[in-house]
Amino acid sequence: MNPNATITDEQFEAYLAQIRALVEGPFEELQKEVEVTNAFPDEFYELARENDLYRFYLPACYGGWNLSELEILRVQEEFSRGPGGMRMHLHHAADMNWRILDDYGKPELKARHMQRFQDKGVYCNFAITEQTGGTGADIHATALKQPDGTYLLNGEKWLISHTDCSDFTYVIAVTDPASDKDSRLSAFFVPNDAPGFEVVPMPHMMGCRGAGHAALRFTDVRLDPLYLLGEEGQGMEVAIHSLSVSRVHIAMSNLGMAQRMLEISLKRAQDRVTFGKPIAARQMIKAKIADMQKMVHVLRCAVYDFARDFDRDPHNPQITEKAAICKLFSIDTVKLVSDEMLEIFGGDGYFEDCPYGPVERLYRDCRAMWLEEGAPCVQRITIAREAEARGGALDYTFA
Ligand SMILES: Cc1cc2nc3c(=O)[nH]c(=O)nc-3n(C[C@H](O)[C@H](O)[C@H](O)COP(=O)(O)OP(=O)(O)OC[C@H]3O[C@@H](n4cnc5c(N)ncnc54)[C@H](O)[C@@H]3O)c2cc1C
Repeated sequence: MNPNATITDEQFEAYLAQIRALVEGPFEELQKEVEVTNAFPDEFYELARENDLYRFYLPACYGGWNLSELEILRVQEEFSRGPGGMRMHLHHAADMNWRILDDYGKPELKARHMQRFQDKGVYCNFAITEQTGGTGADIHATALKQPDGTYLLNGEKWLISHTDCSDFTYVIAVTDPASDKDSRLSAFFVPNDAPGFEVVPMPHMMGCRGAGHAALRFTDVRLDPLYLLGEEGQGMEVAIHSLSVSRVHIAMSNLGMAQRMLEISLKRAQDRVTFGKPIAARQMIKAKIADMQKMVHVLRCAVYDFARDFDRDPHNPQITEKAAICKLFSIDTVKLVSDEMLEIFGGDGYFEDCPYGPVERLYRDCRAMWLEEGAPCVQRITIAREAEARGGALDYTFA
């Protein structure tokens, strides 16, 4: 463990095992109902609380365990083995949910709320995406400063997760419409019960059921300047810094899912006998297993390297590039591993209630990762921009 952690190595290893048993046991059971209702039952939140899933990632001053980023990501690998919507909720809880307020909130707001993240006394979603523009400077929701110093928020957001269990929303909006630069954007901490704040339902998704996706509509939502995060014009920086770390949490989600898919594929390949031999004995199947293991291993190395960089310096200039690489490679990984898993399972993998594990659901759940926190093209644009700026050089921590 890192020397500042408030738990021992033994307690941490026991916690990892506890979370794996929870997500592959009780959470899988609850998910059968969530697949139909598309909403988490109260029992899910209670189990998450009882198992310290809203606490383990927080600094000790906020009731947490002072884990390093690498240790936090290792817990995330375990809960990513379970249902995708629950993974999405817990991944967000462990990262942007509390981190944005901690990094950019005014001292008065932090004093009010930071202690409440433990046990989900408060939960905050994140809203940048819009239906009418590109994610980034090309957004249209506005938060215009009024003569009395307040801001008036108007506009819409789209595809927003966790809208059914949040108390606040981190909203990125335009404060300087005359500018075409990134500095036209600012970030706000918006109370979801403010007059003029509306949640508009959206259809069910392909996978990751239960994570509360909806659109948001803002009509003259009045915001005290206390709710401005960072400085006016800093909205893009808030988004990019927060998304950088969160993209690696997506990569770790993909790693947790890919590791589980690999394990259940190995078991199935050993058990399934055709023409007198387990299919695992066939070279064609061995090639698939080798390719799956290769991708899982390289992804793990990339994520661990990022986490070590981040633990040394969270504002290290190569964080953005390495985070985008982790996310992009993790999509390649989960794409290959889920396709090979389905081929190894044959027709049985296409049905629910497969005795080896939720093959059909894992296949659907992992596909949200293409889009969550930026599509592959956006990761490529980021990587190319950063690589060009540094002549392709990156530093590594594994010594
Ligand atoms: C499960 C899920 C959860 C989500 N949760 C949230 C959330 O909580 N908060 C939130 O704000 N958003 C959320 N999103 C939205 C997500 O961030 C976007 O879907 C994603 O960023 C892609 O944006 P888009 O859907 O508008 O696609 P588009 O912008 O329409 O992109 C379509 C395609 O065109 C490409 N493209 C677009 N612009 C360019 C360009 N300039 N150059 C090259 N290629 C380009 C994209 O890479 C993509 O492949 C979520 C999405 C999903 C699926």
